[in-house]
Amino acid sequence: MTGQTGPLRRTERLERLLEVSRTLSSTLELGPLLQSIVDVAVELTDSEAVSILLYDSSSGELRFETVPATQGSDLQKLSVPLENSVAGWIFTHTKPMVVQDAATDPRVFRKVDHALHFQTRSLLGLPLRIRAETIGVIEAVNKRGSAHYTEDDLKVLETLAAQAAIAIENARLLARLQQANTELMRLDRMKSDFIAIASHELRTPLGLILGHATFLKEVVPPDYAEQMDVIIKGSMRLKTLVEDMSTISHKEEGQSRVRRELFSMTKMVIDTVSRFQESAVEKQIELGCDVPENDPLMIEADRDKIEVALGNLVRNAITFTDAQGQVGLKAETEGGYIKVFVVDTGIGIPSGEADKIFDRFYQVESHLTRRHGGMGLGLSIAKAMVEMHNGQIWVESKEGTGSLFCMMLPVNERQASSAARVFHT
Ligand code: ADP
Repeated sequence: MTGQTGPLRRTERLERLLEVSRTLSSTLELGPLLQSIVDVAVELTDSEAVSILLYDSSSGELRFETVPATQGSDLQKLSVPLENSVAGWIFTHTKPMVVQDAATDPRVFRKVDHALHFQTRSLLGLPLRIRAETIGVIEAVNKRGSAHYTEDDLKVLETLAAQAAIAIENARLLARLQQANTELMRLDRMKSDFIAIASHELRTPLGLILGHATFLKEVVPPDYAEQMDVIIKGSMRLKTLVEDMSTISHKEEGQSRVRRELFSMTKMVIDTVSRFQESAVEKQIELGCDVPENDPLMIEADRDKIEVALGNLVRNAITFTDAQGQVGLKAETEGGYIKVFVVDTGIGIPSGEADKIFDRFYQVESHLTRRHGGMGLGLSIAKAMVEMHNGQIWVESKEGTGSLFCMMLPVNERQASSAARVFHT
């Protein structure tokens, strides 16, 4: 190939450069990528060797990152100082350098030659840059046939240096992303462990407090009834929170299973309205429902789970609606589904937050002034429960006007299976 010049040689060079570009876009593995860049650089610049050196901020020196396979491990143990070396000069001045007669040039760092029993005769080097940052140097050594490095060699090496820099940046970004991901997973695991342990450990003492408080309320003089009620109400609230935590934990551990039974959604809606009537009255909120009079809306689902999901929606609707507001429940069939709506005239949800509120522990920041005592788990639980049935849950809301939550549930297992096919394709 040394004998070839002119257009053919140019086409060959372009093809080889194109090959490197293709490799660059087809793999993220840094080692093989840089190796292929070095190999192509050796070939196209007609050099005895090409190496990539990267700046190591801990030692303040340039470390050999990729070298020709023949010089492998010996060279990779060596580093080059920034002072008194060609590579160091290129790095600190961020400029290319050509040394046509290296044997007599004092700028050449000789230690590497000595260590490898090698003699650097000529050298062409360029800085490796990622945007404004210089990260290292690429060097071609000993132009074959005692020729001089040319302008063409410089251009080829420049192109390859740019590709090497992209490969290195991609690898660094990927490494950072993987590290962040591992850290996130570790934190998520810690959070899950905490939820599992806390909910388990709190359950027993809380049961004792609640049991004894209920017993005491019966026997203490009526003067203390109000205080006892405060204790019981507070403990009940804690119990709900612990149950939420435990539900989430079971769901994560995969311990939650759907146990289907046939029940009437009409009845569940009516019962839920009665269950929350007291809290609604306390807040001066009008709570009612609209269900078909003569249709029980039978559904085959896990009654407890749907009851929890619906309860969470209604509790929120009451919490985030002010006095004189309204909360309404509605149920109807549509195709093989039953849709249950919980509508309120409350404070609504800011646009852009509607999807996030279904995430675990997510609470709308501007709502936190309400001190409603929640933990941001209610909706994620409702979503988990609904999705376990292959159903869907969503919200439509306008800030300051109100919200409409809808749960759409398949009426039976067969419908749930076909829903799974529809939703997952
Ligand atoms: P929690 O109610 O315990 O904070 P949820 O997961 O049930 O947690 O709800 C998450 C957040 O979504 C709430 O903190 C609130 O900001 C918002 N949200 C839920 N339901 C409503 C609603 N009906 N109206 C307005 N905001 C709501």
